[in-house]
Amino acid sequence: MSRALFIIDVQNDFTEGGALGVDGGAAVAAGITEYLGAHRGDYALVVASRDWHDADNDNGGHFAVDDAPDFVQTWPVHCVAGTPGAEYHPALDTSAVDVHIRKGQGVPAYSIFEGTDDAGASVTEVLAAHGITDVDVVGIATDYCVRASALDALEHGQHVRVLTDLVAGVASESSAAALAELGHAGAILAESAAVEAGATPDASDAAEASGAADAADGAGPGDGDAR
Ligand SMILES: [Zn+2]
Repeated sequence: MSRALFIIDVQNDFTEGGALGVDGGAAVAAGITEYLGAHRGDYALVVASRDWHDADNDNGGHFAVDDAPDFVQTWPVHCVAGTPGAEYHPALDTSAVDVHIRKGQGVPAYSIFEGTDDAGASVTEVLAAHGITDVDVVGIATDYCVRASALDALEHGQHVRVLTDLVAGVASESSAAALAELGHAGAILAESAAVEAGATPDASDAAEASGAADAADGAGPGDGDAR
């Protein structure tokens, strides 16, 4: 098992005072930093995404230009590439981030899987290169980009866990619905405080059996820990 952390769109425009700020966004930024302080070692890879829209067009109808935004399909102008609103929230410690993903250049892009890293690699390629099998998801917004990213991760065969106290949503009703949908789709919903450092994503028999097999054959990743 090799686990990644997805930090979804913790950007100034999605936090309080931003163009599309959600309640609790700044607290999520600080909470993720605190969580990483205790759990960075649990992750083989930390991947952070940013919405990164064009300034000179409506990004495929994503920006409401002529009409008022409906906050479902059209949105106020937000996260324009290179602007302060598109930067990570200052409370998010990005020193732990291994891979930076940008998405939404000229198009609506809710899922991190729609983006690429600085070298143009897709998230699927990045995960495969690191042998990632498990993904934890945190960030903004629960009911849009967190939801889409977690659903895509499930579809790509990842074991997915959403840390429910480290996400913030646009609206409470749709956020609750998104978490319920993710649970039904196979994601584990867990509070970060319930995550033990170095623990497997859940206490399933499969995870324990796999650990036992590693110990038995003497060639498992456990060997590397005995130093
Ligand atoms: Zn956007």
